[in-house]
Amino acid sequence: MRDRIDIDGLSVSPDHFIGGQRVTSPETFETRCPFDWSRKLADIARGDAQTAAHAAEAASAAFPGWAALTAAERGAYLHRLADLIEANVEKLAMVECLDMGMLLESLQLRVILRGAANFRNYADLATAHQERVWSSRGTANRVIRMPAGPALIITPWNAPFMLSTWKCAPALAAGNTVILKPADWSPLSASVLADLIAEAGFPAGVFNIVQGLGAELGNALTSDPRIKRISFTGSVPTARVIGKAAAENIVPFTAELGGKSPLLVFADADLDAAAKKAAGQFDDSGQVCMAGTRIIVEESVKDEFLAKFHAYADAHVMGDSRDPATTMSALIHPVHADRVLGFIERARAAGDTIVRGGKRWKEGANWIEPTLIVPKDNQSEVVQSEVFGPVLTFQTFKDEAEGVALANSTAYGLSGIVYTGSEERAHRVGRAVRGGTVWVNTFLVRDLTAPFGGIGISGIGREGGDYALDFHSDLKTLQILEGSVR
Ligand code: NAD
Repeated sequence: MRDRIDIDGLSVSPDHFIGGQRVTSPETFETRCPFDWSRKLADIARGDAQTAAHAAEAASAAFPGWAALTAAERGAYLHRLADLIEANVEKLAMVECLDMGMLLESLQLRVILRGAANFRNYADLATAHQERVWSSRGTANRVIRMPAGPALIITPWNAPFMLSTWKCAPALAAGNTVILKPADWSPLSASVLADLIAEAGFPAGVFNIVQGLGAELGNALTSDPRIKRISFTGSVPTARVIGKAAAENIVPFTAELGGKSPLLVFADADLDAAAKKAAGQFDDSGQVCMAGTRIIVEESVKDEFLAKFHAYADAHVMGDSRDPATTMSALIHPVHADRVLGFIERARAAGDTIVRGGKRWKEGANWIEPTLIVPKDNQSEVVQSEVFGPVLTFQTFKDEAEGVALANSTAYGLSGIVYTGSEERAHRVGRAVRGGTVWVNTFLVRDLTAPFGGIGISGIGREGGDYALDFHSDLKTLQILEGSVR
């Protein structure tokens, strides 16, 4: 076990959490602060195949006991964890802010509390679940949810705490034990979560957290035959690798992947609200999977929309994420900032027009200015590929059919945003736009019981509500011949 690290007075363990204990590895990897890159926050235990095997063993050993509890008994642990998250909002928010760069105020007011809500929601949903019962062909039928076994949860570097809790809660509520592997660019909030799991008194091995690099630790975890579910959020190339490992062991696999979502604005919309929301896609420097990164506006209101959009985009403030005046956080890592700049440079070289932004805010800093690009045509790379940075494209359409066709013209299908003042159009276009979630005149508001997931290369399967509980269960149909038993 390594010494705990002091981060601005906050104590964080650099180690894994396996079988209810802190466990370390001989090697480490470092994590730095995105908005102050000279600042190293911690050297974190770099898990390997041995770590993966240890975690799988702990999660397997704990499974029968956890699965045997009632949903309400498991729910009591989840509520206790939610209480502790609520009591530690300030610590979790500061650690996540320093490690991932997300704005502190947003973490304090919304994001961390959403993590607590994820555990409460699933505790209550699993407890309230009624088995489906019906009679057919002379038999009494009953659908039973059976816990499946150890579940592996793999999360990306953006929104690490929110996504980890969103994905671990249904697995635990369904009766599975969990191994969480956070991303190596933002590992710290998961380590704070491990402290809270210990404090909540979860039985050893029920909820394990391992740290490490993608392929090195990840491949050892995904190929372990003791893993009975894999729930992944991240990029398309990694999903392809994990999907093959899941196929090898015939393990159910969900993938929440990238997006290239349209933000479609009709002339009958509240243009000010639409322009404000469009400029709001630069929040978090565009590191949001659901971001509406393709702005597609009805030709007749193009100039009015753009004037408003630029005014809102000009108001963005880049800076220290702890400062309440900052509205645009830094990009997570210089490597990622260079990747985003690469998209912009290739767009310029290919004949796309950079209307605003397009360069680093300051030499050596992890911010790129809010960037708007008018593509040469719809096949431009910046239209068709996820950039995951503060880079939006701008296109126009003459009628609804053309607008919807543009909206649906990529291989992705995670979400969509539509602005219109017409109820009929809201329903018609809302149905026509390809995406697992489509918002009309709003964005990011999500009910925890609703399904969430992607179409096309944006993913496989659905999370949220009962959909995730079903995924984490082996569904069994029990049929008893009517009149044969008393
Ligand atoms: P990534 O695919 O590089 O990594 C995601 C996770 O997978 C990390 O924990 C990483 O260490 C791990 N990993 C990498 N290789 C692995 C392997 N061979 N085996 C097992 N695990 C492995 O993605 P990222 O760059 O961390 O995240 C950004 C991507 O995530 C974007 O494409 C974004 O759109 C997507 N995302 C999607 C959603 C959603 O809900 N659809 C939410 C957030 C982010």
